[in-house]
Amino acid sequence: MDLIELKGIGQKNKEYFSKLGVDNVKDLLEFFPRDYELFFAPTTISEIGYKTMATIKGVFNQTLFERKSGKLKITSSEFQDEVGQKIRVVWFNAPYVKQSYSPHVPYIIRGRISRKFGVKQIDQPRVFTIDEYKALMGQMMPVYPLTKGLSNALIIKAIKQALSSEVYNELDTCDFLPSCIKEKYGLIDKSVAIKNLHFPTNQILYQQALVRMSFEEIFLFLYCLKENEDKLEKKSDIIIRHDKRTEQFINKLPFELTNAQKKVILEINNDMSSSKVMNRLIQGDVGSGKTMVALSALMDCAFSGYQGALMAPTEVLANQHYETISKLFKENDIELNIALLTGSMTALEKKVVYNALEDGKIDILIGTHTLFQEKVNYKNLGLIITDEQHRFGIKQRQALQAKGIDPHMIVMSATPIPRTLALIVYGNMDVSVIDELPKARKPIKNAVVDDSYKDNAYRFIQKEVALGHQVYIICPLVEYSEGVEAQNVTDYTQMLKEIMPENIKIGMLHGQMKAEKKNEVMQNFSDGNIDILVSTTVVEVGVDVPNATVMMIEDANRFGLATLHQLRGRIGRGAAQSYCIFVSNNNSKESMERLEVLNHSNNGFEIASKDLEMRGPGEFMGIRQSGALSFKNFDIYRDATIAMNAKEAINDIFIGKIKLSEHEIKLLNEKNALVKGGIVL
Ligand code: ADP
Ligand code: MG
Repeated sequence: MDLIELKGIGQKNKEYFSKLGVDNVKDLLEFFPRDYELFFAPTTISEIGYKTMATIKGVFNQTLFERKSGKLKITSSEFQDEVGQKIRVVWFNAPYVKQSYSPHVPYIIRGRISRKFGVKQIDQPRVFTIDEYKALMGQMMPVYPLTKGLSNALIIKAIKQALSSEVYNELDTCDFLPSCIKEKYGLIDKSVAIKNLHFPTNQILYQQALVRMSFEEIFLFLYCLKENEDKLEKKSDIIIRHDKRTEQFINKLPFELTNAQKKVILEINNDMSSSKVMNRLIQGDVGSGKTMVALSALMDCAFSGYQGALMAPTEVLANQHYETISKLFKENDIELNIALLTGSMTALEKKVVYNALEDGKIDILIGTHTLFQEKVNYKNLGLIITDEQHRFGIKQRQALQAKGIDPHMIVMSATPIPRTLALIVYGNMDVSVIDELPKARKPIKNAVVDDSYKDNAYRFIQKEVALGHQVYIICPLVEYSEGVEAQNVTDYTQMLKEIMPENIKIGMLHGQMKAEKKNEVMQNFSDGNIDILVSTTVVEVGVDVPNATVMMIEDANRFGLATLHQLRGRIGRGAAQSYCIFVSNNNSKESMERLEVLNHSNNGFEIASKDLEMRGPGEFMGIRQSGALSFKNFDIYRDATIAMNAKEAINDIFIGKIKLSEHEIKLLNEKNALVKGGIVL
């Protein structure tokens, strides 16, 4: 069913939805909220701290007025609660609010409390009439991921219609999860689950819905893995031997490899020189030096006469690998040809690379997923390494096999997946662990603070910049988002430009920027032309700027521990002392405890298992774990039990203990065929 058939969706909105990966009503039904908003009863101003969200009932006691500050339009007023206390209210670049609300009329306002010059204020509040708010009280309102042009309200309206469509009514008959498995593991029907993920009426229903959808996701993933398993253990005639020139290169590095790096290199060499196809996962904490291990393998591959490919999840990271390796080769007179291939290159530039690759003139190719697009033909590909990526696997391997090649494969990951889970998810892979960090590092100094510490933090940041160091500031959101009380990169950058001295150069980075622009910003930061980089978690994976010594993470409580650890891994890479400041205005016991774990440990595996232990099966209000395997609902830490159940169910199917009906087999195989066609997974 086409989206256009829904009320309120025309061609334009359809295009916006498409940007979010929603192309039809079925997609829409599975386009889940990333958070829920709870509407509490209003409080008075004296009851709120400098913390989180406030909901206050009262009146604007003056007309809203607007002033300009640089490019910023600031609208403000004073809001007085029912007991006569007052608080300043401020909006940025929102000229429409001036006309929308009148003084001395009762409203309920909802927004985040901040502190300006020691005085409390509410930033960007939403304003409700008393009746509007009454209607919302006690509800859990879904908050969807948005894109420019689409409001949360519009998405809600569309989803409500989708929930009464024909597509929705057919969900259960088309469900690929066999009914005996649903029964055995107490899983609810798909239609019920989907409804309750969008509009849960209580926590229990929400939990049941989440479990059901997580199960189906990991079940399908593991089922396809199993279905395709046999084909993965193949004999190989690509023999790659450890080369003297690689050894000499390693010996000339300014540092000695750690024992863990040496051990993993040895494991790789054993695999690649044997007659089987290597299929190896390398897990190593941030900063453990995975790039060197990858480079050693790529060099051996090239010296043995094969081409090697290194795939990164982002252009920024691909660029960086290219720069680092080119420089090392130059310094050490290594005569291997290395090239870069990314989506933002011009057609002509790409063509040059394609040709050189087919002619065998390129030994090592670095890039993003572009490395495996149709037009790319290798002369003799021997090894693929994917960095910081969990999902490369079956799909890409099949695409390559279709081209008649079956190279060795390494997947490198810093996400510390608990061992039991790694065995389940990567059941068909050998696992190497780099369980040691280079010695020469100074441990990062950490602090967990709230907003009241901000002025100090900004002074500290200025001092570090004056010393020639660089700073990351991380915000959860790209731009202001209705109903989510979290800092966003766009407004934050503006604000910093206002309060920081002019000589401090401030840059901005987020995932919605064009690839070219992102590369440019990251390159500028890397070259030291930007002092403070305000960014979303796009910097999370991989980037290496050793001169950056401070990271300040706003709304740190909104990120999973693994993500925070990963982010923090961007600093502490050089010789200077580094500092990580976690800002959290949620001083609930649970949130503080979580951040304390980071405050006291720099060990990714320890942090991951603590995270699992503490969050247990129901991190209810948090933004869903980003970073780990990119499932919609399944969470690699939280849902270990679900994964084990799914694995058990699949084994039972394969050994015939569970018998499926013909219809059920058909539905499952249809799904598997989709995966094979490269559409899902
Ligand atoms: P990650 O495992 O997070 O990908 P990188 O490979 O980016 O880590 O390495 C982080 C930094 O540590 C790089 O600047 C790299 O040159 C350096 N490095 C790698 N191995 C060692 C080592 N054995 N001793 C000291 N520094 C190292
Ligand atoms: Mg890396």
